[in-house]
Amino acid sequence: MEKIIMLGTGHGRVIDLYNTCFLLQNGEDRLLVDTGGSIRIVENLAKMGYKLTDIHNIFISHCHTDHILGLCWFFKLVSVFYYKTDYKEKINIYGNEEVVEAIDKLISAVFPKLLQDIVKKNIVIHVLKGEETIDIAGEKITFFDALAKGNSLYGFETVLTNGKKLVFLGDEICNQSLYNRIKDADYVMHEAFCMDSEEGVPQVVKEHHSTVKSVCEAMEPLNIKNLIIYHTEDSHKDKKELYEKEAKQYFSNNVIVPNDLEIIEIK
Ligand SMILES: [Zn+2]
Repeated sequence: MEKIIMLGTGHGRVIDLYNTCFLLQNGEDRLLVDTGGSIRIVENLAKMGYKLTDIHNIFISHCHTDHILGLCWFFKLVSVFYYKTDYKEKINIYGNEEVVEAIDKLISAVFPKLLQDIVKKNIVIHVLKGEETIDIAGEKITFFDALAKGNSLYGFETVLTNGKKLVFLGDEICNQSLYNRIKDADYVMHEAFCMDSEEGVPQVVKEHHSTVKSVCEAMEPLNIKNLIIYHTEDSHKDKKELYEKEAKQYFSNNVIVPNDLEIIEIK
């Protein structure tokens, strides 16, 4: 069964939530999409029943702190298995040129030589340049440039083994040139920083991020069956109910606003 396991659902400055990252689980295999910005990646994987040695494929959408820095903690802790046990599985890392360059610099800057050598020996880097389809975790994953205004941001689309089309758009407003790609999709994952109905919508939303209302209005004509909203603020204990209530005013089909550690079954 295909599932999305939300390890985090918050934006880059959340404290109560973890930053947005998730596992795309397909049967016994899985792809980790982004890693958040702290050691909570390890904690939240464990809470959902995963060992670090269960993760062999990691996609980093862009090189912002809240997506890439958790990778350092993942490497730091998984390296113990390489060093102290006979664990030998390679870890495939998928990312654009900015991401790959940042990973290389991070490894060199923050790890002692022994750890650098262990990590570099056991990761396989795949540099994404434009559209590319790769077999990962039993699925054909097509990565694409999301044409973001900020740092180079990649998304992906896949038709899962149950025939459902899923598109992940990263954490910026969907560029209109991608609308043909997401039209009629079964599941689209799109960010929304906060609700529109609240006072004090920050400037960053107008430039790079959406409100629940603005993403729903943009997606409504595209006949998306299920809209998954993430990369949210963490100031609401009842975020799910409040966000879904606003979404339903502007979006006719199903809206899912997951909490951290929530499992979305792709049906
Ligand atoms: Zn982010």
